[in-house]
Amino acid sequence: MTSPRRVAAHLLTPLLGSGVAVAPHGDAVVLTFDDGPTPGETDRILPVLADRGATATFFVLVNRARREPALLREVLAAGHEVALHGPDHRRITGFRADQVGRRTRGATRELEDLAGVGVRWFRPPYGRQRMSDVLAVRAGGVVPVLWEAGMYDWADLPDDERLEKGLGEAGPGSVVLMHDGFAGPDDGVDDGPEPEVDRPLLVSRTLDRLADRGLSAHSLRAGLTRGDLVKRLRFGR
Ligand SMILES: [Zn+2]
Repeated sequence: MTSPRRVAAHLLTPLLGSGVAVAPHGDAVVLTFDDGPTPGETDRILPVLADRGATATFFVLVNRARREPALLREVLAAGHEVALHGPDHRRITGFRADQVGRRTRGATRELEDLAGVGVRWFRPPYGRQRMSDVLAVRAGGVVPVLWEAGMYDWADLPDDERLEKGLGEAGPGSVVLMHDGFAGPDDGVDDGPEPEVDRPLLVSRTLDRLADRGLSAHSLRAGLTRGDLVKRLRFGR
């Protein structure tokens, strides 16, 4: 018998769900980067992706994009997709829903001006969002996208452990989360010192591991040419 809870989830997911994967999607994952554009990181990751014929969706911080418009254009010129991570890196759950709506709309518009292309997706900093935030964000014209597989490049771990933990759950269609920057005081947050990580090398090793499993990496836009966005209800402060 179907539980009332399951019926409610079924009805609410189209409206309140966040994208976490793409299906059906035989041989590919969706690769995403957060917290850039960052000089010295983003520009060193782009050639790694180009070498492998991989594309990605970059969830950018508008305060950084504003400082680095040329680097943002470089990301786009290389065939990648640009999406919104926020006007800065503060948790949206610290704002009222009407403020979240206003901030998201303003940041989306500014990012579209900087990028010269439309922006469809939003990833809340830390993946934290309330139900009211999802509604406010969607009313602002962007769809929340979270992830299934995070590569632990925000934590101090050896790369082998990052790869094992991060790709443990990843399979065809998974949205994979990596970072081309580390948010700090300039982005409105204090998350301590940046962990030691050679980001281009970790990207390269991640693509190797995916290739071992017969999986290629694509931006969300490219991934959606092969399947639909899988949504799940996922909230948290
Ligand atoms: Zn972030």
